[in-house]
Amino acid sequence: MQPPISHYKDEDPGQTQAILNQELEKEVSELKHQKKTTEQGKEEESTSTPELKVLPVKKSEAKATNASNIVNAFRQKMANVATPIDLPSAGITVEFKEISTHEQKELSKVALQSNSRADIMYCAMISLINELAVDKKFDIRDYTEFERIQVILNLQQMNKMNPEIKYTCSQCGKENSYRLDTMKLLRNFTKTYKPDNEFIIETGGGRKFNVVAGWPSCRLVEEFFKHYFKRYDNQSKPMKESMDNMSQIEYMLMFMKSISVVDGSDPSDVLTANLEDLTYGERCQIVDSLPQNIMFDEDTGVISQIIKSYIEPINKVFKYADCPFCGAEQEGQVANLSDFMGG
Ligand SMILES: [Zn+2]
Repeated sequence: MQPPISHYKDEDPGQTQAILNQELEKEVSELKHQKKTTEQGKEEESTSTPELKVLPVKKSEAKATNASNIVNAFRQKMANVATPIDLPSAGITVEFKEISTHEQKELSKVALQSNSRADIMYCAMISLINELAVDKKFDIRDYTEFERIQVILNLQQMNKMNPEIKYTCSQCGKENSYRLDTMKLLRNFTKTYKPDNEFIIETGGGRKFNVVAGWPSCRLVEEFFKHYFKRYDNQSKPMKESMDNMSQIEYMLMFMKSISVVDGSDPSDVLTANLEDLTYGERCQIVDSLPQNIMFDEDTGVISQIIKSYIEPINKVFKYADCPFCGAEQEGQVANLSDFMGG
């Protein structure tokens, strides 16, 4: 199900800027165009009823009032504006509608009600991305986390969302706030792209583990969060906190695509598990069966390799701004959806 990602080229930062500028210019010229047509073509607007028949808020068959016509006309017009978003790592361009006030309100409601719980917000975000895609066959679940984050940053950019982030400095205790620069985030995030890569971990007795790591598909991550959600409910507060910590390690485990073990005494004796083909439960059982140092060794373990290759570069992009009062480096991450969407 993974899209081919090998032909991805490290993108020139200027190119992203150019694409964004093009989009902005397009939006502006469309706005100008809309203004003109509403001034000159008022009659055309009110006679275009055949198109409105498909809309859900249609009033009684007999006579549509002027008020319902204008509501429908607005809905129709808003639904027709789409902006292409380039996903170079997947080799595709997808058109997205703007986020409506209604959708923004719904998302903020989910964030508020769930206290921005990562699992619930993740599933809400996946649904929103698919709803906004013009092509109804497009499903972000077929693509990776890398493309999902790119889509979110692009959506922020095209919807002119530059959320304000608030945090308290751990060193001087001052309250800080700053605006996310989504264009800069997008540019820097795009540069962190890394295709799948393989690393080898050797253990005593000449036994070798070959691990292939890479960006997980959104389908897999969603499946993980749905399981997580089931376990999360009805837990005590300390348990919830430990699950929050645990989920970060489990999230990283999804970057493991396959693992092979080669026996030292017989190199032809290779056992491979393609983790992508397994269910969430089966993946957990395979990982649980591995020697703990293969997973957790600070230098060579699977987790530390995934952190070095994939997590650290992204963390640098999404780091909180350093404290403007004392200069202390901030370790927190701009990562949750309410930060992203300004909810
Ligand atoms: Zn400070």
